[in-house]
Amino acid sequence: LLEINNITKYYGELEVISNLTLQVEEHEVVCLIGPSGCGKSTLLRCINRLEEIASGEILIHGDRITGPGVDLDRLRRDIGIVFQGYNLFPHMTVLENTVLAPTKVLGMSRREAEDKAMAFLERIGLAHKANEYPDRMSGGQQQRVAIVRALMMDPMLLLLDEITSALDPELVSEVLDIVRDLAAGGMTMILATHEMGFAREVADRICFLQGGKIYEQGPPAEIFGNPQGERTQAFLRSLK
Ligand code: ATP
Ligand code: MG
Repeated sequence: LLEINNITKYYGELEVISNLTLQVEEHEVVCLIGPSGCGKSTLLRCINRLEEIASGEILIHGDRITGPGVDLDRLRRDIGIVFQGYNLFPHMTVLENTVLAPTKVLGMSRREAEDKAMAFLERIGLAHKANEYPDRMSGGQQQRVAIVRALMMDPMLLLLDEITSALDPELVSEVLDIVRDLAAGGMTMILATHEMGFAREVADRICFLQGGKIYEQGPPAEIFGNPQGERTQAFLRSLK
């Protein structure tokens, strides 16, 4: 589904992503782990072109999505992204937040969008909050709504950047439950996370990033159970 070939990204003089290559198959869940500043967020942002790369290319289903002439609106419909902070519009209710993009961008009828949103909200146990404003909900609830909002566009790939790191520990599990459900449903996802327990459980593959490169990758059991690289070992040790 996704093919990242040899990409490099600079912020000014600083090389943040360095000749990175990564392929993601359909239905695969890939977790990016690694020390703060290693480039996890930047990599996700390059994939839906919130950041421009200096060299290399990114392909989706064989079509190049980097370089000129790419329909970025279309691209961002196909690739959903959810960030760490709460992503909701504060002046809109939960329902308004979730129906906004499909009605405006996809031209879906209000009725159809609301039905779809309510079905998602029901699934995550938040149907009763449909008419609530975000600031009257817990962080975990808001983050779950943010995920629903991304799902409303039927993305073929979902990018999740530290979606639990702004949450109190007791709220983390409810967000992780959704991600687990999505994984079980076959959603292709790339997650940047500091939650190793979660990464271990949900990921098909772990990529350990170091200095803007994939330093080591493999199935969770291998990366966590028997990491080969010195840097990977040191990183995992530092978390204990
Ligand atoms: P964390 O685990 O803390 O979220 P990360 O792996 O997501 O870290 P990035 O946010 O991708 O790391 O940052 C990679 C590097 O790029 C860091 O050195 C960071 O300081 C730098 N950086 C990130 N965003 C910008 C920006 N907008 N302008 C300049 N430098 C940036
Ligand atoms: Mg980050």
